[in-house]
Amino acid sequence: MNYNQDTADTIETIHAFLSPLPRPSVHPEHFSSEYTILIATLISLRTKDRVTEQAASRLFTLAATPREMVRLPLERIEDAIYPAGFYKTKAANILAISRILLQQYGGRVPKDREALLSLPGVGIKTANLTLSLGYGLPYICVDTHVHRIANRLGWIRTKAPEQTETALMRVVEKKWWIPINHILVIFGQKVCRPVSPLCSSCPVSATCPREGVITHR
Ligand code: SF4
Repeated sequence: MNYNQDTADTIETIHAFLSPLPRPSVHPEHFSSEYTILIATLISLRTKDRVTEQAASRLFTLAATPREMVRLPLERIEDAIYPAGFYKTKAANILAISRILLQQYGGRVPKDREALLSLPGVGIKTANLTLSLGYGLPYICVDTHVHRIANRLGWIRTKAPEQTETALMRVVEKKWWIPINHILVIFGQKVCRPVSPLCSSCPVSATCPREGVITHR
């Protein structure tokens, strides 16, 4: 691997600037099993952090294991996770996933990315977050914030988030693979925003090439 010291310094600087980091909506301290991390990550897609936390807590009070979940009627799951985005589809997927885990994996979440990706509603982001937060495996969870910021900083040049994970693995030291998602999501919400980033108050503005940035404040 060809790690880049400038990249490491930039991550250190952003991390220090944001400290103490607020806790993410999906975090092992909050959701203590691989199963609850997987389900909470599903709920979090296209949903605000606060809504995710409340929806997941309501659901896990009713059922926190696949065996408990399959005993719930679909409507009960829908009610528990409402108003998460696409709550009806997510509820159906949660039920289907729970059945598959019981039938094919002995009620356990598979520790394997391909197996996770075969579950209904599970994409690369959900699979990587489950493997990294649930099992501590070194995967980079790429969402729109990570993709946008890594490109603006000039670390990588990728068109789609799907290409970004592999590209980042070449330039980011392994110790940052798991935390980089949380750091850049918070940084993307507070400073390097999607539209008109706050470059004037950014801790790395002196070295950032601002690739693709048209307007900034
Ligand atoms: S200088 Fe601007 S574009 Fe670069 S990381 Fe900071 S906020 Fe983002």
